[in-house]
Amino acid sequence: MGKLYNLLVIGSSNTDMVVQVDHFPKPGETLLGGDFFMNPGGKGANQAVAAVRLGGKVAFIGKVGKDIFGKETLENLLREGINIDGISQDEVHPSGVAQITVDKNGENCIVVASGANMALGAGDMEKNSKLIHQAEIILLQLEIPMDTVSLVVKIGNEAGKKVILNPAPAQALDDEVYAGLFAITPNESETTLLSRIQVKDEPSAAKAASFFHEKGVKVVVITLGAKGAYLSAGEYKGIVPAPKVHAVDTTAAGDTFNGALAVGISKGISLREAVEFANRAAAYSVTKKGAQSSVPRLSEIE
Ligand code: AMP
Repeated sequence: MGKLYNLLVIGSSNTDMVVQVDHFPKPGETLLGGDFFMNPGGKGANQAVAAVRLGGKVAFIGKVGKDIFGKETLENLLREGINIDGISQDEVHPSGVAQITVDKNGENCIVVASGANMALGAGDMEKNSKLIHQAEIILLQLEIPMDTVSLVVKIGNEAGKKVILNPAPAQALDDEVYAGLFAITPNESETTLLSRIQVKDEPSAAKAASFFHEKGVKVVVITLGAKGAYLSAGEYKGIVPAPKVHAVDTTAAGDTFNGALAVGISKGISLREAVEFANRAAAYSVTKKGAQSSVPRLSEIE
């Protein structure tokens, strides 16, 4: 049996394969690129790694393929100190990979092959029922099948768990999903897609938060990039500012924010303090390049 935990992340893991190019290839063109990097990624794995580095006790449920990438993903999450009892190796589908090209201006083009992540289904939740019931907080994203997300929200809610959904990449959600959420954490564009309200300032963020509350979500946290995050919960409504930093690369800022927020909630600090903590961790991450490589440890932000 793996390590003890109270925070369970259920989601995706990918291997990011990054090639630097001068310009993006046109259809039919073969391009000789520059340096190649291979990094662990996927929103679920990124958020689990952020949570464990920031002091959380974390378990992960996910699916990888029976291939070298799956093996490396398992080893990486284990090395970080995450309970990996809930990760299985799919017999049919390959591990998730993301092909990323970055041009000389820092713009990127990304193609994700979800592979085994999209095979994470009801059977896996049943098999890991004990893991789910032992958690206090469940953190989800939308890089696994929507049916699985709906099922976890239902099971988690019925069992009295606090379910947090980071609705990324944005997709429409059923009313039953909203109704079962403790918290939702969209960024500005995800908020607009879900609520049809353009978030540009505090009043519009408040309006969007009301949309989610009316659907039954208790805590709304809208991330606002360099501005920080808008928190709307019974006790507090308003923008919690992020520390001012020199931004180098915002990859995985949202993932760091979500992992940190879940840790704060799992430690029982106030929601305002949890958002401040998440802002601090995410702001640190934008000062460093990469996804998991930019996620700070607790000692670095204290
Ligand atoms: P976003 O997904 O862009 O809303 O960013 C998520 C979180 O990362 C924000 O709520 C901030 O805490 C942090 N963040 C993003 N960009 C910056 C920035 N330029 N400076 C400071 N913090 C940032």
